[in-house]
Amino acid sequence: MSERFDDVVRNAFDFLGRSIDELEQHPKYSVIHFYSAIELFVKARLLKEHWALTVAKPEQADRTKFQRGDFQSVGLREANERLAKIAADGLLEEELKCFDGLRQERNQMVHFAHASQGDGAVAAKELDRIVSDHAKGWLYLRRLLSGRWKDHFDAHAEKISELDLRMREQTKSLERKFMLLTDDISAARGAGRHFMGCPSCGFESFEVSELVWIGLAKCLTCGYASVVVTLNCVNEECGKSILIDDAYECCRLCDHVYSPAVVEALIENESLIEFQRPHDVDRSAWANCGECEGYESAAHLKTGEWFCTECFSLFDEDEIDACEWCGSLTSALPEESMISGCYQCGGYMGHVGDKD
Ligand SMILES: [Zn+2]
Ligand SMILES: [Zn+2]
Ligand SMILES: [Zn+2]
Ligand SMILES: [Zn+2]
Repeated sequence: MSERFDDVVRNAFDFLGRSIDELEQHPKYSVIHFYSAIELFVKARLLKEHWALTVAKPEQADRTKFQRGDFQSVGLREANERLAKIAADGLLEEELKCFDGLRQERNQMVHFAHASQGDGAVAAKELDRIVSDHAKGWLYLRRLLSGRWKDHFDAHAEKISELDLRMREQTKSLERKFMLLTDDISAARGAGRHFMGCPSCGFESFEVSELVWIGLAKCLTCGYASVVVTLNCVNEECGKSILIDDAYECCRLCDHVYSPAVVEALIENESLIEFQRPHDVDRSAWANCGECEGYESAAHLKTGEWFCTECFSLFDEDEIDACEWCGSLTSALPEESMISGCYQCGGYMGHVGDKD
């Protein structure tokens, strides 16, 4: 089935290329094709697990029909659920939310005339919004293809970089919008506020609170918002002020590769942000993350927040609780944790189940 996988991936690249070509003249088709590309990449990843999983009803999967392309394929949410449950390799919540938003946008385009069509200020504004949405969608997609899903898409690395260049080129059309903000940004800079290059659109309008910091940052040009780590690059030869918005991101200036372990070490020795050391030895300073199911991957920061070095989730103080069954600190704890436990222990039910 590997030839099928390559077919699907090639098709996905084709749709992505189309989406870029059509943006100016036919924004409606650009939106439709962009989402088709995303869905195909997710399906391709699922196909790597088993071809029958890409069929809407796997119990009715028929190999001959599948090879003919005569089948109803799975939708985005269902595909993600299968990836998460079967391959433990699903989308992060923010990725699913972004892709699903693009799906809804696609549906609107299919059924209704769209504001982006035509001339005038309204259409120009709509076009900026589409460019911003696509830049963000591509950021998440590229991060998957060359990060967490790298092993599966490695053979297509060249094509991925080629499209990355084209997408970046497309995003430059937001310059108009950025230029309108430059005076405000200079004034804000003068008042001590900090702006860095936006991971999504590339413009220097991504506002961070501090230059060595962990928190939620937002771009004034494209609206992209993300929890980021700002720091001086750990590669001594570089050492520049940078930000990373994903645990496996590279320094954009020197290509130094980051990882949860690097960020964890920076937090532990407080060269990044003050860490809340436990006074009580029984209380751990690291909690489990229910978002990515990371084991003791969330650090307790001096601000009271918890930050997961695996998935870059930031939790408020009250979002982390101790499991009533096993005592470990975790986010996303179910209500009756004595009964159902946390995802690490399974609680009383898991305990009884194990005895059978
Ligand atoms: Zn931006
Ligand atoms: Zn660097
Ligand atoms: Zn996490
Ligand atoms: Zn537990």
